[in-house]
Amino acid sequence: MTEIKQYLENLESNLKTKYPNQKEYLQAVAEFMGTIEPFLNQNPIFVEKNILEMLLVPERLIEFRIPWMSDSGEWKVNTGYRVQYNSALGPYKGGMRFHPTVNQSIMKFLAFEQIFKNSLTSLPIGGGKGGSDFDPKGKSEGEIMRFCQSLMQELQKYIGPDQDIPAGDIGVGGREIGYLFGEYKRLNSYQAGVLTGKPLSYWGSLARTEATGYGLVYFVEHLLNDQKDSFAGKKVLVSGSGNVAIYAIEKAQELGATVYGCSDSSGYVIDPEGIDLNLVKEIKEIKRDRIKTYLEKKPKAKFVEKGNIWSDEFYFDIALPCATQNEISEELAKQLVQNGVQIVAEGANMPTSLEALEVFKENNILYCPGKASNAGGVAVSALEMAQNAQRLPWTFEQVDHELNQIMKNIYETCRDTANRYANKNDFVSGANIAGFERVAKAMLSQGLV
Ligand code: NDP
Repeated sequence: MTEIKQYLENLESNLKTKYPNQKEYLQAVAEFMGTIEPFLNQNPIFVEKNILEMLLVPERLIEFRIPWMSDSGEWKVNTGYRVQYNSALGPYKGGMRFHPTVNQSIMKFLAFEQIFKNSLTSLPIGGGKGGSDFDPKGKSEGEIMRFCQSLMQELQKYIGPDQDIPAGDIGVGGREIGYLFGEYKRLNSYQAGVLTGKPLSYWGSLARTEATGYGLVYFVEHLLNDQKDSFAGKKVLVSGSGNVAIYAIEKAQELGATVYGCSDSSGYVIDPEGIDLNLVKEIKEIKRDRIKTYLEKKPKAKFVEKGNIWSDEFYFDIALPCATQNEISEELAKQLVQNGVQIVAEGANMPTSLEALEVFKENNILYCPGKASNAGGVAVSALEMAQNAQRLPWTFEQVDHELNQIMKNIYETCRDTANRYANKNDFVSGANIAGFERVAKAMLSQGLV
């Protein structure tokens, strides 16, 4: 075994001993560690200076109590988190997630991935993530507002426009960002750049809502164009029906694909006529209802209660997982291969298990890892910060054009880095190495801090 391989194995095994129960975190680190050796072989300075071990330790991990009162006067409590993982490239940047499954492991995996994702955008942003195990489902407007205000009472001590800039993620959209922003303003002062994903009426960016989904489709379109192909005429399935899923469907349809299915945590819908996106938007964005109600207006569609969309036998070309981590297991990956899928591009963070990833590799499926393909959201968040600092709003076309350019650049960087250090079309290696290189160089030049 080479010295560098041994170094990597020791780091990983120490983490396993230290955090035996942090499954998702260990998974994200394992995926990264499995690809970085060829780069370190050519750049041993990063091993000599122990940059990788340094990078694995978050700069700061904040865990706090969020007390709030229900409408019926009950006293409730949740746990809040903010992981400020790495600031070598800029202030911490990453979303807030509200979901009952949130714990330290999930926060750390998301923040760890965010470091490399943000680096890939080539914008000046470091990696962070946060959230709470609060479940927004079934909560009233008043409860959501009081919860957000209580969370911000504590979080405001650690964030700022040049320090740490949270945004949305699962369970956190424009409504929640609005309440968080209002409370920050009351406790501090009006600082437009302290949160991104703000509503348009007070310095949100046009195209931020669409950015992650559109960016995902742009990434895949550049990949397809490279192969003299395009989205036109492709059959697509999408998981989830939240922010990322909806705008991935919109852009894929615009580019001429037919999207046949989407889902939520209650089950999935397949519509043989193609998904009616206006209906999905009405159900999800306006009524905040379950995807099952799609059938009330589209009786020819099928709904599979509690089903995972990737278990269906539908024959299609492109899978866009846009719901949550580990939604594609090894068994489901085999099903996708059987269904004729050629491309799997992640809108969600780490929706593919390590075993599923192996299945895709063995079957030459073009696989686009989330840290590259879903970076459009954070990229436009950074453009929102630029507009806030300039005190000038950009047009939708301007932001959308920048987004497309950034996704093209990320795609080409991943492709070229894979060609240099790994195998053609190994976008996992390409994304990890290119993302790491920029952060590692910055850490080295900033010294032991
Ligand atoms: P939303 O809350 O808007 O939507 C999430 C969707 O995924 C919903 O349809 C939800 O169903 C479904 N879902 C969530 N958890 C589960 C689960 N455990 N099982 C089954 N379905 C689930 O979130 P986003 O669209 O913002 O985020 C989706 C993914 O994209 C996440 O992985 C997020 O980290 C990632 N991402 C988001 C970015 C953004 O800009 N928003 C940027 C980059 C990545 P239900 O409503 O029933 O829970």
